[in-house]
Amino acid sequence: MNNPFENALSQLARAQKVQAFPEQFLKQLSVPMREVRISIPVVMDDGRLEVYEGYRVQFNNARGPYKGGIRYHQNADIHEVKALAFWMALKCAVVNIPMGGGKGGITVDPKKLSKTELEKISRGWVRGMADVLGPKKDVPAPDVNTTPEIMGWMVDEFAKISGDTTRATFTGKPIELGGSEGRGAATGLGGYYVFETLREFYSVPNGATVVIQGFGNVGGHAGEIFSKNGYKVIATSDSKGGIVKEDGIDIGALEAWKKEHGTLSGFPGSRDISNEALLELLCDVLIPAALENQITAENADRVQAKFILELANGPITPEADEILFAKHIPVVPDILANAGGVTVSTFEWQQNLSSEHWSEEDVNTKLKNILMRESRVVHEKAVSLKTDLRRSAFIVAMERIASAMGYTL
Ligand code: GLU
Repeated sequence: MNNPFENALSQLARAQKVQAFPEQFLKQLSVPMREVRISIPVVMDDGRLEVYEGYRVQFNNARGPYKGGIRYHQNADIHEVKALAFWMALKCAVVNIPMGGGKGGITVDPKKLSKTELEKISRGWVRGMADVLGPKKDVPAPDVNTTPEIMGWMVDEFAKISGDTTRATFTGKPIELGGSEGRGAATGLGGYYVFETLREFYSVPNGATVVIQGFGNVGGHAGEIFSKNGYKVIATSDSKGGIVKEDGIDIGALEAWKKEHGTLSGFPGSRDISNEALLELLCDVLIPAALENQITAENADRVQAKFILELANGPITPEADEILFAKHIPVVPDILANAGGVTVSTFEWQQNLSSEHWSEEDVNTKLKNILMRESRVVHEKAVSLKTDLRRSAFIVAMERIASAMGYTL
């Protein structure tokens, strides 16, 4: 069993081997500043009382308020949330936005809840956490299975408790409740900008074939954006399984299909494939955009992609990283590849605090400039240190966090 937080710490150790950081700094960066666990009692629609477990891990705020999403998943636990919070701290540093790292979660399968129950559990999470949240303290956002609608309930609950009317305590809100233009597509679009900046260094041709694991907010938008820009998406999947269509999937049509049938399976002209087999398809670009620990020591050797863009958090274990590195398959790490979401979240927070509303064009231009610039920084560091992009991204982020914590390197 891969414990995501142990994986995160071994990534840190791998980076430290390439460039040494002060011992005290590593000690501090290996533990969160604060972990909060709460019980959320919910009266279910049938009158029963259920008690759910909720979390917030505030990892590091040296560079700004804690920032990161809230995940609703039946397998969410404190180890996962801790790893995700750690990655958020590094992610915000790697793209140089003024935020620290945090993450939250609830152990629940939201697909089994009614809308009323979902609203109650979401408001309950805010009531339990309100003391540790705020625009200058900790700013949550969506993650796996959490939506703009949920952020809307949360920001409303927080305003009632705290009197804070800036709406800057949650990002990823609906536009009419203070959300930013472009936030929905930001992780997918950001991944595309990072990819476009880096692909020339690794000779990935325009029009390449793409396989995407995940068809949620991140994978779905990525599919649309890559297709629109001339790439051929030949396979994708959701939590139930995937489909392959070698002559290319029309993502809009697939979305309509899923809406109508509740599954990707049966999409005209396609064949079914399991989530595991999808990762081993022959393709130019593989985009894991679902959950962690998908490519491990067990299957890394069978990966046939020429280039990997991690839009999920933590989809590749450290052992698998070694195998892919030896196979010369470049991996653009999550903390860079999926940083578009938190970058536009930060724009949303800035807009809320200054009572502004930026156009989608302004948002996307700012996003593009940041991600192109920082992708080059990470690439140059990898070249100069003769290492992979994960280790160089870690080193760039660690340098920035260390200097914010007062270490001289
Ligand atoms: N959940 C997203 C992530 O993992 C976004 C976080 C945010 O917008 O704060 O990066």
